[in-house]
Amino acid sequence: MTAIATLGSHCSLQVLKGAKDEGLKTILVCEKKREKLYKRFPFIDELIIVDSFKEVLDQKCQSILEKNNAVLIPHGTLIAQLSSEEIESIKTPVFGNKWILRWESDRNMKEKLMREANLPMPKAVTKPKDIEKLVIVKRQGAAGGKGYFMAANEEDYNTKRNQLISDGIISKDETLYIQEYAAGVLAYLQFFYSPLKEELEFFGVDQRHESDIEGLGRIPADQQLKTNKIPSFNVIGNSPLVLRESLLNEVYTMGENFVNAAKRVVSPGMNGPFCIEGVYDENAKFTSFEFSARIVAGSNIYMDGSPYYSLLFNETMSMGKRIAREVKTATETNQLDKITT
Ligand code: ATP
Repeated sequence: MTAIATLGSHCSLQVLKGAKDEGLKTILVCEKKREKLYKRFPFIDELIIVDSFKEVLDQKCQSILEKNNAVLIPHGTLIAQLSSEEIESIKTPVFGNKWILRWESDRNMKEKLMREANLPMPKAVTKPKDIEKLVIVKRQGAAGGKGYFMAANEEDYNTKRNQLISDGIISKDETLYIQEYAAGVLAYLQFFYSPLKEELEFFGVDQRHESDIEGLGRIPADQQLKTNKIPSFNVIGNSPLVLRESLLNEVYTMGENFVNAAKRVVSPGMNGPFCIEGVYDENAKFTSFEFSARIVAGSNIYMDGSPYYSLLFNETMSMGKRIAREVKTATETNQLDKITT
């Protein structure tokens, strides 16, 4: 029998609940400090207790996973805590394509893949002196929006950067990435591509609630002007969104373009869940600032099934369960190598 394993954070609960519902064994790599939390959930069959998630690379952990024929489901925490080299060195089969995770973590590679997929992107600004319009300044990797800031010109950029350095939030020699700010309705488009069926499924849309940029919007402008705190984009939670039906066709096209581009640049392509993240402007034109090449935590809002999956499946289907279904089908038909790397 195959088991499903993941790190205890991010979306591990829905991943393991979905696996249990599919009749698979569930294993959680769990930090000691969270043991009590995860023991509350009866669908977790086995906990591998670690001091730090890096121990997933250790022989001890990998041999438990191997003994259980486990497939490891990567999520945001794996990317945040391990380097690309470390992720690529994992011996346990990783669901989807572990090689594409590097393309998510490295800003230049990310931009290249998005261009290859023809996704409409905000303009990148190479030097602070070239800032002409409102920009957002980001850190490398999946920083989760912490330490990001907006700037209207070079002077504004320098003031804020210096403040964040002196507050200890970013470091002096960190390379920052500057991009024009795209205003509109946030939409994080979640997909699943099945290499077994060679089919793209649109799962759902979420919005992120980010502190404290969102909190700032709740206070009157005169009070905003008096605060000199630099608002961050730290994600606190997610909420659901449905799109105007007339936008769906373009959503599928973007998803398909992304899958096709990934096939060309990073074999075996974009298998499993992924997310295209951006905003819709006043003309319903989408601009994408980011993608995630694995399950996103925004799928947690649809643990009981999403609006779009209820159109495709006559049963409750979460993203966690969809992943487990793919693993189960691949196991039964001897095609695990098609869905893991
Ligand atoms: P994660 O890996 O958690 O997705 P990240 O660190 O890679 O995050 P982004 O998703 O690129 O960061 O950005 C974080 C947030 O900043 C976004 O959710 C969005 O609210 C805002 N943001 C990023 N880029 C832009 C942009 N060009 N225009 C407007 N808002 C943006």
